[in-house]
Amino acid sequence: MLQAKTEYGNIITLASFTKEEISVLKEQTQFFCPACQKPVIVKAGSKTIPHFAHRSKSECPALEGGEGPYHEKGKLLLYQWLKHQHLDVRLEEYLPAISQRPDILIKLKHKTVAIEYQCARIASAEIITRNEGYYREGIVPIWILGANRFSRRKRNELKMDQFQLHFMHQFSTDFPLTLYFFCPNSLRFISFQDLYFTALQRATGKMVIRKLNEMVFTDLFKASLFPKQQLFQLWKQEKRLFRIRPSRRVYGRELAWNQWLYLNSVHRESLPSVIYLPVSAQFRMKTQPWDWQSRLCLEIIYPLAAGETFSLQQCMHLLRHHFRDSTSFPLIKSAANPIHQYLQLLQQLGIIRETSPNYFTKENPIKFYKHIEAALDGDAQLIERLVKQNMGMIRE
Ligand SMILES: [Zn+2]
Repeated sequence: MLQAKTEYGNIITLASFTKEEISVLKEQTQFFCPACQKPVIVKAGSKTIPHFAHRSKSECPALEGGEGPYHEKGKLLLYQWLKHQHLDVRLEEYLPAISQRPDILIKLKHKTVAIEYQCARIASAEIITRNEGYYREGIVPIWILGANRFSRRKRNELKMDQFQLHFMHQFSTDFPLTLYFFCPNSLRFISFQDLYFTALQRATGKMVIRKLNEMVFTDLFKASLFPKQQLFQLWKQEKRLFRIRPSRRVYGRELAWNQWLYLNSVHRESLPSVIYLPVSAQFRMKTQPWDWQSRLCLEIIYPLAAGETFSLQQCMHLLRHHFRDSTSFPLIKSAANPIHQYLQLLQQLGIIRETSPNYFTKENPIKFYKHIEAALDGDAQLIERLVKQNMGMIRE
């Protein structure tokens, strides 16, 4: 921790003193943990940000997970950045009501924001508990990940593991999904917004990388959208790879899906183009987009004759084991359903029509392909159609 209390009750931020001052302080003053009141020791080596540490693994309710110098440095830089903007900001303030100590607390006129700068992996349960604590106190939590967890695949694509899913923010139902990263060494702040999962562990979205000193606190709440044109163009490439990717050794759910295809006498290359489309709520699923979308198409829509109907309920039942636990997304405000979003796309493509809320009538057949070339052409045409429809929507 960066702060401690002196024997006189003053809070001291060690990093704001020079080396000489620190060695004097160390001789003359006793320091105590503001949360548990136990004595703490000064750590001021040449390579780390000067900080305090408990003497032993005590039972301090605010004991940090020992995240190391990268974390301490980032926390201090974020704190100083906010302080320069004349905000009422506190470093490591202990909140006794919830036994939590956010890295940074910001008191605004009408709300309080807690910033957690997270560089190490922690248990899901821990993330959920901390968020619940903040919500109970009416505090808005913002989690900023250490850029040590930032793994870029392409210009607008990140590799995202299950751990990172917990840190997607959506401050209101119409706010785009947002993930933040900060690197204390390069001083770069990254916002990854309006993200769409192209596969279970890959997401594409709008990436904005800025120097911390070129932005202000309120920039965190700005929505930057990923242009739909760009999304669809990228999706065209993803679909192509999906078709032509040689089948490697697969296991787990991917193997189960391959077996399901086999049982239905279908090949990946012959699947209809409406399978594997972008839906923003894909993050709620624990199976690949092509997996659940193909099951829905083949098992529910394909067997129907034109004019016959089915319900969202039926689809939800079919895919009930494909959903992740909803508690995995403590920072997300909307309850957007990936299945419903997908059905909306199928409606846009003229396959089905929502005749009454959550009831759909089949309008046109779903076509399978005989050759990979025809499938690739079909995919490209379908994406072009979505692009055009989307342009139309923007002009109106
Ligand atoms: Zn303590």
